Amino acid sequence: MWPWSSRSPSATVTCLACGDGIPRSAAREYDKYGNQWDRRDKEFEHLCPTCHNELCHQPRDELEDILVELHAGEEETDAFLARYLATVEDRYGRVEEES
Ligand SMILES: [Zn+2]
Repeated sequence: MWPWSSRSPSATVTCLACGDGIPRSAAREYDKYGNQWDRRDKEFEHLCPTCHNELCHQPRDELEDILVELHAGEEETDAFLARYLATVEDRYGRVEEES
């Protein structure tokens, strides 16, 4: 259902922002509700270290709002990613893409 929610310790998770597969051990847990200590009935999103660093440069409170607004984790990654990028671009300007 959610490819990044596997409980296996060797699982690969999917970066919320760029969609890359990354080892769970290397991923940064990202809680869109901002409370990482309440783990009950929750699934965490994951970010690769690169995206984690980049996202931290953006206004965090607003980012959380955007993620909640766009129902992060409730939709297909591709569909969410497209809307996320469009929303961020609309609010903050063009997102630089590193290749
Ligand atoms: Zn990423």
